[in-house]
Amino acid sequence: MKTRKYLEPEVVTMPREKLKALQLRRLKLQLRRCYENSGFYKEKLVEAGVRPNDIRSLGDVTLLPFVTKSELREEQMAFPPFGRHAVSPSKTWAELHPSTGTTGIPVNNLWSHKDVKLITQWTARTMWTFGVRPGDVIQNAFSYGLWVAGMSTHYAARELGCFVIPIGASMTERQIDYLLTPGPTVILCTPSYALHIAERLKQRGISPEDIPLRIGCFGGEGGAEVPATRDKIEKGLGIEAFDYYGLAEIGPTIASECPEKAGIHWVEDHLLIEIVHPETRKPCEPGEVGVLVITHLTKEATPMIRYWTNDLAKLDERKCGCGRTHARSPGGILGRADDMIVYKGAKFYPVQVEKVVRSLCELSDEFCIELTTDPNLGTDACTILVECLKEEDISRVTPQIKHGLREECQVTPEVRFVPFGTLERTTFKAKRIVDKRKKD
Ligand SMILES: [Zn+2]
Repeated sequence: MKTRKYLEPEVVTMPREKLKALQLRRLKLQLRRCYENSGFYKEKLVEAGVRPNDIRSLGDVTLLPFVTKSELREEQMAFPPFGRHAVSPSKTWAELHPSTGTTGIPVNNLWSHKDVKLITQWTARTMWTFGVRPGDVIQNAFSYGLWVAGMSTHYAARELGCFVIPIGASMTERQIDYLLTPGPTVILCTPSYALHIAERLKQRGISPEDIPLRIGCFGGEGGAEVPATRDKIEKGLGIEAFDYYGLAEIGPTIASECPEKAGIHWVEDHLLIEIVHPETRKPCEPGEVGVLVITHLTKEATPMIRYWTNDLAKLDERKCGCGRTHARSPGGILGRADDMIVYKGAKFYPVQVEKVVRSLCELSDEFCIELTTDPNLGTDACTILVECLKEEDISRVTPQIKHGLREECQVTPEVRFVPFGTLERTTFKAKRIVDKRKKD
């Protein structure tokens, strides 16, 4: 089994025509279930003037209304505790995994017993895609518990016949002790935490060559596909680093890179992936960046139909060099639609600042984008806070950062140096934007 190139080869290399026919069959079934068993979906479809029978091709999915996070929150408040989008009866429920609540009240998501099996199956597949094999020792530094990724990767690692260290996203010193012994071959965590672990490893005088880690997969936030970040993680931990993506409403670990590193492969037999223009709300052209919209084809408990993720991505449906036919998003998640910064007429995302900051070896990995109101002019001000490893390099590196930002973001925000160690190190997801602007 260990030498097999694919897990579920008949699924991951399925001709696209066949895959699309499977998606359409599953979409029709899912839609009928939702229409018949969920007041939430029935009302939405009636309001949009569409019935399940109107969906005759995958293209017809555009007739269906989007589901947004704020709408789920309202539904949950009106019909507590789970809302009427909980389609399957309570006796089928197995686990509760709410969203993190970083943008408001957490949205409750349910996994049925059947969902747990499916999630375990597709997570095992995505882990196989980036190179996990039976016998690997996995240091699982994803947060366990309510957050989705810790549990799913744990179940999948067990399913694959691996030995798991379920440490979770904490105890950085012990993470490092375990890297030495028992010495995992695979690490899973957020990219921010990977950089933090690498920084502590260096401070403790441990060389990446002293630990047996082979690969790492990093999700929960973007970054693993930013070349400078990937390079820092790979060098800092002595591994090959891969990108991974999931979200609470849809599920954990629904896409991962393969050894070609040509984008994250979606589990398209379980999900219908669309890229939609953020303003016109029409489908994007192939390769165009837009908002990722996802439909559950098989999820039982709280299925999402056209969920507006607010994450930005592009889609490539061409067969990958690895032989897999499931579509990829090159570059992974490219930002959050609501994280766009508009400054002096230019529009940019934190990921672009990350590219510049992490390409300069004089700087630490941390940065923060501070938005304020100029007290004299009343206009918006934007300052990038960075840390220089050695104070004497500040004057030399300042013009390089400014030049990099101008090239990447088409605008030059202010740059402010803070002492090394000032910016928050995280074991979870980094908060990159601090908005202190005066609101009218
Ligand atoms: Zn591939």
